[in-house]
Amino acid sequence: MMIGCDQRRRLVDAVAQRVIACADELTELDRAIGDGDHGINMRRGFEAVLAELDTIAKQGLGDSLRAVGTTLVMKVGGASGPLYGTLFMTLGKSLSNEISREHVANAFGVAIEAVKLRGRSDVGQKTMLDVLAPVLAELRQDGGDLPARLRATAGAAAAATVPMRATRGRASFLGERSIGHMDPGARSSALIIDAIADVMEEWA
Ligand code: ADP
Ligand code: MG
Repeated sequence: MMIGCDQRRRLVDAVAQRVIACADELTELDRAIGDGDHGINMRRGFEAVLAELDTIAKQGLGDSLRAVGTTLVMKVGGASGPLYGTLFMTLGKSLSNEISREHVANAFGVAIEAVKLRGRSDVGQKTMLDVLAPVLAELRQDGGDLPARLRATAGAAAAATVPMRATRGRASFLGERSIGHMDPGARSSALIIDAIADVMEEWA
């Protein structure tokens, strides 16, 4: 399908609004196993994205995503800023306005690898990767009702970080005490996927 200016605007707006609306929840999660700033960081970043929404959406999909990534790197800060920044910038590098499920899956796969390199991290360490990787696996599956499948996968994957022990990021300092709490970055990733799924349903 073809992603025009209105669609880019809707997509970026929906993601930003969702993260901002849930900032307190993210901060609460980060208070339990981190330093309590994840929601504050993410809200600052996505408010900056919204402030530039017109300029961002005017560009093609690749450049729009790159602009989102650059803004997140500059404004979010913490560990998550450069990681989400890398995710969006890398996605932007390989996507153009004409997209298909396969295109997006390939681009998302490359972007996740870039996040792993940047974070020196991998799946299984109780981070955002524990949501992003299962979502990619679902995206690679052909079949009906993709938005609902992505939403369910992301939600279940974020919930599955609760019993995990963190071995990367600030939560790893807690060792065993990181067990029993949802990872804040896993939750923010699930929120982003959820917002994208909503927009996909509007377009279906
Ligand atoms: P900080 O930990 O610097 O305060 P945030 O609170 O904004 O940054 O973000 C924390 C989230 O970032 C974690 O919940 C985790 O999901 C993610 N994260 C942290 N370090 C890494 C890493 N090395 N690789 C992948 N994700 C990470
Ligand atoms: Mg934090």
